[in-house]
Amino acid sequence: ATPTALLVGTGRGAQLGLLIKGPEVLESTRRVDTIVLDKTGTVTTGKMVLVDAHVADGESREEVLRLAGALEAASEHPVARAIAAGAQAEAGALPQVEGFTNREGLGVEGVVDGHGVMVGREDLLAELAVALDGPLAEAKTAAERKGRTAVVVAWDGLARAVLVVADTPKETSPEAIRRLKALGLRTVLLTGDNRPTAEAIAAQVGIDEVIAEVLPSGKVDVIKRLQAEGRVVAMVGDGVNDAPALAQADLGLAIGTGTDVAIEASDLTLVSGDLRAATDAIRLARRTLKTIK
Ligand code: ADP
Ligand code: MG
Repeated sequence: ATPTALLVGTGRGAQLGLLIKGPEVLESTRRVDTIVLDKTGTVTTGKMVLVDAHVADGESREEVLRLAGALEAASEHPVARAIAAGAQAEAGALPQVEGFTNREGLGVEGVVDGHGVMVGREDLLAELAVALDGPLAEAKTAAERKGRTAVVVAWDGLARAVLVVADTPKETSPEAIRRLKALGLRTVLLTGDNRPTAEAIAAQVGIDEVIAEVLPSGKVDVIKRLQAEGRVVAMVGDGVNDAPALAQADLGLAIGTGTDVAIEASDLTLVSGDLRAATDAIRLARRTLKTIK
């Protein structure tokens, strides 16, 4: 039978804006010593905006935006939505795409206006044996140092531009991280984004440890590795790509404004999307279980 204290705890959770899947969830929460946080949409707002387009010598900015925007219009990724919206605002109607391929956690490829176009991480470019030249590489590094995400646009075997997308930490994130650390938790930022970008965001909000450049399929392995080290791990995420990691974690916390898949995979949902509620969840569990003892 479920101890009454756990049921009371679940009810108290609802008042705090926590949707708890079952009373037993509170029991696994007690021993958590590490909290892993997804970057985009969890620590940051996830509302990305296209802020810069660095175009290679001799390229037309409008053509870059037309081709990249057309391709990204077919993707649901926050980076893609920012690029498609920015391109549409500046270049107007976007052309049709043929043979669209989504490369999960890397970028997108397809044929636009007869060109084989790709937009995405430098790794994807490297796969196609395309090199990033001096000024474009420099623009990318400078943007990443500021915590921005820079992706490369290439077609027909040449890098044509670097597009810079900005996403900012949620206003409440630094305070949330302070509170989690005050509970004695080790904080880890987990992302598929580049290391310099991830490190800049971690520094802005006070997260201690960064695990970056992880493919969507690799997030679950990061959780397993931490558990194998003897850690009891909570994971907070919002995306489809976070779902396996949320299910693997000792405690999975979904951001209420995130995807249904993430919410289903989690033990607990932070209804408002405010990370500070994660602290309430852990405190509530600790208090509830002390009552049972
Ligand atoms: P996160 O873990 O931060 O939620 P993802 O794993 O979804 O990030 O993506 C990792 C990186 O892959 C992004 O930061 C971006 O650089 C690149 N990327 C993924 N999808 C796209 C896309 N559609 N267009 C451009 N870049 C992309
Ligand atoms: Mg995310």
